[in-house]
Order: sequence, then structure tokens, then C-alpha cells
Amino acid sequence: MADKTRKAIIIGAGPAGLAAALRLQQQTNITSTVYELRNQPTTLGGAIGIQPNGMRLLHRLGVYDELCAHGFGGQNLTIHSLRGHVVGSTDFVGWAREKTGFGYLRIKRVDIVSVLKKKVEETGIKIHFGKKLVQIEEQKDGVKVFFEDGSVDSADLLLACDGIHSFVRSSFVQPGYQPEYSGVSGLGALVSRDVLPDEAIEQMNGLEGTFTEEGMLAVNPCTPNRDEIFMFFSKWLELPETGDSRDGWEVHRKEEVDGFKDQLLGMLGDGKGQWADALRTLVRNTSSVNFYPVYRLPLGGRWSRGRVVLIGDAAHAMSPHAGQGVSMAMEDVFLLSRLLEDPNRPIEEVFQKYDSIRRPRVDEIFTLAAENAQMRKKASPTGLWLKETKFSVMLNLSWALGLDKRGMGQGHLVYDIDEVEL
Ligand SMILES: Cc1cc2nc3c(=O)[nH]c(=O)nc-3n(C[C@H](O)[C@H](O)[C@H](O)COP(=O)(O)OP(=O)(O)OC[C@H]3O[C@@H](n4cnc5c(N)ncnc54)[C@H](O)[C@@H]3O)c2cc1C
Repeated sequence: MADKTRKAIIIGAGPAGLAAALRLQQQTNITSTVYELRNQPTTLGGAIGIQPNGMRLLHRLGVYDELCAHGFGGQNLTIHSLRGHVVGSTDFVGWAREKTGFGYLRIKRVDIVSVLKKKVEETGIKIHFGKKLVQIEEQKDGVKVFFEDGSVDSADLLLACDGIHSFVRSSFVQPGYQPEYSGVSGLGALVSRDVLPDEAIEQMNGLEGTFTEEGMLAVNPCTPNRDEIFMFFSKWLELPETGDSRDGWEVHRKEEVDGFKDQLLGMLGDGKGQWADALRTLVRNTSSVNFYPVYRLPLGGRWSRGRVVLIGDAAHAMSPHAGQGVSMAMEDVFLLSRLLEDPNRPIEEVFQKYDSIRRPRVDEIFTLAAENAQMRKKASPTGLWLKETKFSVMLNLSWALGLDKRGMGQGHLVYDIDEVEL
């Protein structure tokens, strides 16, 4: 048994599934086959920011240089005021970058998935696209899966990397355990740099946020030479009047997408200064946006059953406001792979340790993301002023007392899952 090659089926070719296939190949005697619902990598999510704790693991996977060649590495967080000044600016991962050697990268979602996919295919691991999982069956010492097209496969293990609406979770691991609406919704668009004057583009050195009374409007270049800018607006939005139904959200989506220009331009109002002018130009020249209500999985769900384990968003989808979704998936993958390295370790023990080690870390980051989402709450003019003042005081105090140099607020970015004792 100890020397026998083991086989894993991975459901989902998002960041978690592709990284899992690679890491298992690097570290264990497990060979994987990946099954993906869609016919090609998805563009959902526009561009995402990956933090030092995730970048370090992506480096160990061997895809770091390729990712950096596609994304934008500006490390500054700058908050602008519509009253025409900069509220504050900080190298928001500076301390963590010094400690880990890795910084922050904003990259189009399609690019991170494509880079990982290329590496997986170069490694000889097979990815089957257009495969919809419809049934899972437990077998003695294994698991069997059935796809909509009639094909079947079986393996020693099943890694469910099928995202927040995981079929594996809802049909097998914990039926009835559902994602919940977080209260925050977003509009996002990728915009070409051509729509803005060069001075405005040169000003974008990372995540550029602007507080408004309605929520936060942010822009971040997402290609190395700032050819494309990711613009995203997040705000608190009530559930549709008809409840949390597909039709209800479709009404909301249509209203938000059709009315996005009026909404954003109205919100920018007569905001002063070059920055407000640049934002208005950006909005006017944006032809379409995506609308996404943000869902998350309540904490405390089950993560495994028998020979099936949930990874990434399938286990613990959280609000994107800590920028940690991909990094959390990487940490899952690296821990699980380490636990599976010894072929004699019983699978129940592997999943139990995976759960007990990951649970506190996931809870911490989930809570941080939920707190960050509060910054998107609506504010009166006075509330907006208070929010900006609080941010400005925080940054100045942090700089004056040297707290930024001592890593205030960055402790979670230097966490190394490979250093955790098993
Ligand atoms: C708007 C938005 C902004 C975000 N911003 C950030 C950010 O800045 N930084 C960050 O780190 N994270 C961010 N995230 C979160 C991040 O995108 C996720 O945490 C990450 O994609 C999780 O990866 P995953 O592989 O677990 O799931 P997913 O990326 O959802 O991948 C799941 C895959 O499984 C496939 N699949 C689903 N069902 C089946 C099935 N039945 N059979 C076969 N395949 C199936 C799907 O097609 C998909 O390809 C953001 C998310 C959103 C929505």
C-alpha cells in the first residue's frame, strides 16, 4: 500500500483546483485528473489582488515569474477625496514584503487561471473541460464520479475545488449548507488605458480608492505596463424585494448595469481636482460593467466526508474585501499536500488535521474581510468626512509612531503554512 501510486479526482479548474494538481504532483505520489465545468478559463471577477502570503506559495509552485509578467506589481494604497486632495497613502504590504520577499500583484483572473493551466498541462496532468459533475458515489476505499455527458471516473480521493456554489458540498459533503448574501454588491469593469490622459495613468501606483457617500470606488492597473485598468465599485445593497431569488437578483442586476454611468457620475458629482476629473472620464468611457452580489459561506461548515475534501471557496468563500480568497486556497492546497505526502497517514487523520489547522486561520481572515466590507457602508456628508479623517489620522499616526515599519495590520500576510507544525 505504502508504495502504490494514488489517484485524485479534482473538480474545478479555478486557482484551487489547478494549484492542487500541481502541488500534489510536486510533493506526493498522487496523480490527478482535473474536471472543469466550463469550456475554457473564466473571466469572472475581473482582476484580483494577490497578497504576499499567496504570492510566496505561487512562487513555490513555480508560476511566480509568469504571473508577474502578466500582472501589475504597484504596492501603494492611496485614498483620494472628492474634495480634491489625497487623504493618505501607504505601501500597504511593505513590512510583509521585507519579511517574505514577496509583495502584492493585481492580475486579471483569466491570466492567473491561464498561467496555472499552462503549468499543469506542461506537467502532463490532464484537464478535461466541459465536464459537469452530477453524482458522487462512495466506494470501498475510493470514490466514483459521474458527469452529465455520461462519462465516469473513480479515484482514491476527491478534491472539491468547485467554488462557492460547490456541487460536491451541496450534494455530498453537507447538503443544505448554503452561501449567504454578504450585504455588499459590486460593479466591475476592465478599461483600456487609452481612455485616460497619461498623467492620470502615471498617478496609479497600486490600489487607488475613493470614498464616496454611496461606497468605495477603486481603480488598479492590472497589466505590467498599465494597459488595462480594473475599476470596481462596492456598496451595501439590500436583498431584492422578492427575496434571495435568481429573478430578484436579475432585476437588481439590470438596474445596476443599465444605470451604472448615471449612478457613478451622480456619486462623483462635482468632485474637485484632477483625480475626480480622471474618474469621471473613466466612467464616461466605460461601455459595460459586470454586477456581482457578494456571497460568502457562513463559518463552521463541514469540510470533508469519507474520501472527499473541500478546498478554497467550496469550503470557505468569504467577502473579497481582505483580498485573500486566492491566498486562502493556496494555503489549503499546501497544507493538504503536506499531509498527504506520507502515503501511510490514514485519510481520516489527514482531513481531521487539515480541518483543525485551517479552521482558526480561515475564521480570522473571514472576520477581517467582513470588517473591511464595513468601510463600503453608505455615509452622510459628515460621515464621509469622518471616514476620511479617521483614515488620514490612522495613516499619519502609524507613520509618526513607526507602526507601519513594525508591520501593524500586516501580520496575517507573513503567515507561512509550510512552517505550521503538523
Ligand atoms: C468580485 C470578486 C472579487 C474578488 N477579488 C479577489 C481579490 O482581489 N483577491 C483574492 O485573492 N480573491 C478575490 N476574490 C475571490 C477569489 O476569486 C476566489 O477566492 C478564488 O477564485 C477561489 O478559487 P477556487 O478555485 O476555490 O474557486 P473558483 O475560482 O470559483 O473556481 C471554481 C471552478 O470550479 C468549476 N466548477 C463549478 N462547479 C463545477 C462542477 N459541478 N463540475 C466541474 N467544475 C465545476 C467552476 O467553473 C470554476 O472554474 C474575488 C471574488 C469575487 C467574486
